[in-house]
Amino acid sequence: MKSFPGFQLAERSKSGFTLIETLTCLVIVIILISIAGAAGVLIQSPSSQARCLNNLRTLTVAWSVYANENDDRLVGAESFQNGRPDWVGPVNRMSISSSVIQNIDPEIHLGGSPLLPYLNLQMNRDNAFQVFRCPADPSIAANKDYNQGRPSPRVRSYSMNAWMGGNNEGSSRFNMILFENRSQFSSLPPSQAMVFAGERADSIDDSALQISMDGYLDSTTLPSPTRIIDYPAFYHGGGAAFSFADGHVARKIWRDPRTIPPFTQERPLAHKVSSHLNPDVLWLQNHATRRF
Ligand SMILES: [Zn+2]
Repeated sequence: MKSFPGFQLAERSKSGFTLIETLTCLVIVIILISIAGAAGVLIQSPSSQARCLNNLRTLTVAWSVYANENDDRLVGAESFQNGRPDWVGPVNRMSISSSVIQNIDPEIHLGGSPLLPYLNLQMNRDNAFQVFRCPADPSIAANKDYNQGRPSPRVRSYSMNAWMGGNNEGSSRFNMILFENRSQFSSLPPSQAMVFAGERADSIDDSALQISMDGYLDSTTLPSPTRIIDYPAFYHGGGAAFSFADGHVARKIWRDPRTIPPFTQERPLAHKVSSHLNPDVLWLQNHATRRF
């Protein structure tokens, strides 16, 4: 007696799956799991924050190798000081103005960096230039003499803690250490000593993040209010990425709204702004330097 195929199927479903059907289901489930896994990998691909932190880690390795190769002396945070070259090279000026070609041509702005030879040990020149820019930095500029006038990303988002061999403005006044070689890391241990920092695009004007030590810890001997000179970035969940002299990197989330004024697309932020008892300024000071 003939039966309809559909009826047969119904009959079989009552008695459970055949071995082949069970194996087919298993294969399908395995394929689905692998597709979901691949999607998960894509979702977890490096975020801009992770890439930013990785940039700072890479720069800090180069900073450390530079000291290894130069009798423990540190590269300078800003300008040529006592034989210390500026870490970005001789052309360190940055401007929010779109007309400054130096902000978009990496050869002009980064090509003279004394860290570049050490970055080139790990990667080619173009990839080394990428390490100087935060992927979340929104700033672009255009110049008729570069890239056929097309808007291009500005080349640098990071500055170096000015107390790392930068200019010594204020160090004698406050009896603060200006770090010139690694042997000075003692009262400020390497794990606390800030080296590189994300600086916001409307604040970055040279190669150093200037941190005023006004009002540091003891307001009776340093009666002036705490101030912000250069503004750190806020691109990563309201915080900035930093690296430290032991090579570790971290994000700091800002707590005080005065640390994150509105972004000014075409106008530099005012510097040296009073920000009294701002806990973020105290954090920056605490990782910038120490008294002699
Ligand atoms: Zn960043």
